Amino acid sequence: MADKLILPDEEMSDDTNKDISTPIPEILEGIKVFPGQAIGLAQQFSAGSLEIPQFTIEKTQTRGEIQRLRGAIAQVDRELAALATSEDDEMPPEALAFVDVHRSIVTDPTLFEDTVNIIKEQLINSEWAIARRLERTRRDFDAIENEYLRSRVADIEQVVRRVQRVLTGRRSSASLLAADTLDDKLILVADDLDPADILLLRDRTDLDIVGIVLEAGSATSHAAILARSLEIPTVVGVKGALEAIASESTIIVDADRAIVELQPTAEGKRLARAQMRVTAEEHSRLRKLKGTPAKTTDGVEITLMANIALPDELRDVHRAGADGIGLFRTEFLYMNRTDLPSEDEQYEAYSRVIRSLKGKPVTIRTADIGGDKPLPREVMDQFDASPSEDINPALGLRALRFSFQYPEIFRTQLRAILRASLGGSTNILLPLITSPTEVALVRKYIAETQAELAERRIKYSKNIRLGGMVEVPAAVVMLPYLATKLDFFSIGTNDLVQYTLAADRSNASVSQYYEERHPAVLQLIARTIKVLRRANKPVSICGEMASRRDLAELFVGLGVKTLSMVSTRIPSVKERILSINAETAQQVARSALRRHSPETTIKLLENRDAYHHAYDEPKGI
Ligand code: PEP
Ligand code: MG
Repeated sequence: MADKLILPDEEMSDDTNKDISTPIPEILEGIKVFPGQAIGLAQQFSAGSLEIPQFTIEKTQTRGEIQRLRGAIAQVDRELAALATSEDDEMPPEALAFVDVHRSIVTDPTLFEDTVNIIKEQLINSEWAIARRLERTRRDFDAIENEYLRSRVADIEQVVRRVQRVLTGRRSSASLLAADTLDDKLILVADDLDPADILLLRDRTDLDIVGIVLEAGSATSHAAILARSLEIPTVVGVKGALEAIASESTIIVDADRAIVELQPTAEGKRLARAQMRVTAEEHSRLRKLKGTPAKTTDGVEITLMANIALPDELRDVHRAGADGIGLFRTEFLYMNRTDLPSEDEQYEAYSRVIRSLKGKPVTIRTADIGGDKPLPREVMDQFDASPSEDINPALGLRALRFSFQYPEIFRTQLRAILRASLGGSTNILLPLITSPTEVALVRKYIAETQAELAERRIKYSKNIRLGGMVEVPAAVVMLPYLATKLDFFSIGTNDLVQYTLAADRSNASVSQYYEERHPAVLQLIARTIKVLRRANKPVSICGEMASRRDLAELFVGLGVKTLSMVSTRIPSVKERILSINAETAQQVARSALRRHSPETTIKLLENRDAYHHAYDEPKGI
């Protein structure tokens, strides 16, 4: 099948060849990339299967082929350069990075020279020659051990495909979506999307693309990252999507459940349409708040920071207008792989985040490995570790304890953070801290790392601040002492709730005991804020509670000045803060702290939330 949109008549003729005994599945499963629901007409769009003309040439024709190749490479470079210089303020930084990578591939002299040699030696046309050059590259990449680097051959394939498209006189797949047939809301169904095509699709204001389904990809593939920038419900890794979904059929992308519904019922369609309207209204309302500071009605400013797990989330951070990164959960750099991330790889990741934040604070938490985020056994085996099987992993070798047990892993991370710190404002945050002794040990490691870097004449920032997570009740008890040893604190409510109430955060059978508004939890949070205010040490909240609109008033009332949460929640929490009166909030907080049973505390907070919904402007309690 050629590289083009399959139009309805072709689709019909295709259907006649299908085995009609194979039932169409009702649901296909995938991986959520951008949340929400969308209903629309499926439009198939295959970028991968470009037919390459293959023919041999006479020796006298080689010059002509080489000219064609040179022209095609120059044209692709021009097209990419035009995308890179587009004056689109909303252009995601990642998109620019991809375009840069693609430009460096297409202008790499060896791409041209090797292909010319193949044309001359094998006397074949340039489309075929560049395909053979790609084959060689694929073989070289196959030999790379690192899975991530190996997968980057996809960029080269996409660039070669663009050059081949120009050579064969085909336009980009994005431009093949014919606007006149497309008055409806569309759901794009494709095998994969080239980053440049996604950027072109962003510019197609004549199309109403409301959802994306991709066969290829993982949540962190380039296509997924860029699809996220379109901010429409997207599910990737949907195996067999092109085969099962007919163009022009009405389908639902339910990204919240990571599924595609191929045969939605009338009621399902009605609900999806209603959901889309609500989401659209909310988005447009919240988008307008991007440049507005989060200030209460009586002028108390609250700093709203972002939590990230991987640098790929930077786009969301900028889009939300975050005041910085309040929590970088670095353990995710160690997950889903069969080896440990090297110092250089970590340095790249931290630098990318720090540079991208342009001086706004970036709080890098040292790896919180263990608990519900264990390293795969094959990785542990590689560094000769034989950890005992934790019967109770949440109370086992986790976070700082893991770092102390495997100091080389810890030192590697500290070196990478210190090196990256030169790029901006960097804080180091320590997970699961329980005593000043641990802080002293970390300071010793940091001092040794600094000395080592100085000896190697490698620079690092001298202004790094060291902070601790308050996520174990012991840390609250020890706060007066910890406050003299650390520069700042962040309350990790996810663990503080689990350890205070002895309710495993990931065990559904005790979820009714895992109550974030339990008086014991609120007392610990209140005490933390009070002690740290006296000690003049900054404190933020970075657990999931920080992202709850219904708790924003309580936190403002308790005196919290910084909340850190997943970027996509920032606009909504900001909207709530803009309607809070800080004085009233203090009364709410005092009233909440006087209650002794979870039920009455919950009732008070629910009433406040209901009151806010009813009147928007709280006037008293
Ligand atoms: C927390 O415990 O609240 C926290 C932010 O850390 P994590 O969720 O990564 O354990
Ligand atoms: Mg935690």
